[in-house]
Amino acid sequence: MTTGTRSSELFERARRVLPGGVNSPVRAFRAVGGTPHVIRRGEGAELEDVDGRRYVDFMMSWGPLILGHAHPEVVEAVGAAVARGLSFGAPCEAEIELGERVTAAYPGIDLVRFVSSGTEAVMSAIRLARGATGRDLVVKFSGCYHGHVDHLLVAAGSGLVTFGQPSSAGVPGAFAGLTAVLPLDDSEAIARLFDERGDEIAAVIIEPIPANNGLLVQRREFLALLRELTARHGALLIFDEVISGFRVARGGAAELYGITPDLATFGKVIGGGMPVGAFGGRRELMERLAPLGPVYQAGTLSGNPVAMTAGAKTLEILERENAWDRLERLGAELERRIAPLLEQADPPARLVRVGSIFWMSLQPGEPPRRAESIAPEAAERYRPIFHGLLERGINLAPSAYEVGFLSLAHTAEHLGRLEQALRGVLG
Ligand SMILES: *Cc1c(COP(=O)(O)O)cnc(C)c1O
Repeated sequence: MTTGTRSSELFERARRVLPGGVNSPVRAFRAVGGTPHVIRRGEGAELEDVDGRRYVDFMMSWGPLILGHAHPEVVEAVGAAVARGLSFGAPCEAEIELGERVTAAYPGIDLVRFVSSGTEAVMSAIRLARGATGRDLVVKFSGCYHGHVDHLLVAAGSGLVTFGQPSSAGVPGAFAGLTAVLPLDDSEAIARLFDERGDEIAAVIIEPIPANNGLLVQRREFLALLRELTARHGALLIFDEVISGFRVARGGAAELYGITPDLATFGKVIGGGMPVGAFGGRRELMERLAPLGPVYQAGTLSGNPVAMTAGAKTLEILERENAWDRLERLGAELERRIAPLLEQADPPARLVRVGSIFWMSLQPGEPPRRAESIAPEAAERYRPIFHGLLERGINLAPSAYEVGFLSLAHTAEHLGRLEQALRGVLG
């Protein structure tokens, strides 16, 4: 973004009152350099910034906007809900409808609780798992992101230390010491940990389709092993489906892989663009939550009528439109157009895709399955591609490690514009 634009002026103002000018760090463009454009509106697959520049958007607010920006039916339903009141702090019909839709769609979920973000959903699911098992240890995988939960802002320990170290200042070492961090796609490491400490582990949490550190597609056998080990040792398996839930299939990655976790967490798509998270599981587990059980969890704005309306309307439209088939076809079309361009680049790169989630693996060879296999040069290589595309009216996420998203609002014409811009940038 050049100086003298309305965007750059606004961002200067932002920097005076917001740390780094933003309310979520990646938005600040630190990973790619430059100044973020300030957005005025979104419409279908397109964004418009405050200088009137338009972009075909493949970031889609980091995943929630599976119908596109400002879908008319969602906007109308939300407007009607707003007119009836912004919050009641009491039960409302929309939360019941959304609850019915989630439990009907997702394998093994009898009961669901709504919260206001994915982070909150994960934090609460971990507490429930600990409360239900009476154990403290949690296992996560390097390269999976689960929000900014203290117990999960943990990096792998060095050498033979299995339990982790804080990956953020402000996280006590004692918390991190309760979390083991293992590599993805490493059956031996997880089997060994269960051999040694299996009866102390409350839960294993994984993004079944890890999409926060590149798109690290896992082998089904690895997920099946997690299911088997947790079941055998009395630990719970938590699928963090905050990105994949209602995006890759109606029943998320659980449906796609045919593996049912004990608990699942949601966010992003189920809020249709409003701040919503959720976690759910089978009845006897979820009944350990207050007010029925001893695990405390609450929220003043949880089940907010406006947010619940946006989520329920979004899921209704997804089902009515047979969205997942359409998104798969759109994803296949994207792959057909983009994959050859990447493979012919020098050095060759790969398109990685699961349905409507995609990522450019900017290194030669098979796409990585582990965070540790992503070459640091790949991130360097992303910067000029990102800025080149932005100049040509294409908005991708401002980090090499973030994935792209398609929505029902994207058309072959939008994909064509991406293809043409990428051809220009790579050529
Ligand atoms: C985005 C995300 C979260 C955190 O959700 P927020 O709404 O940003 O708090 C958690 N887990 C996964 C897999 C995510 O992609």
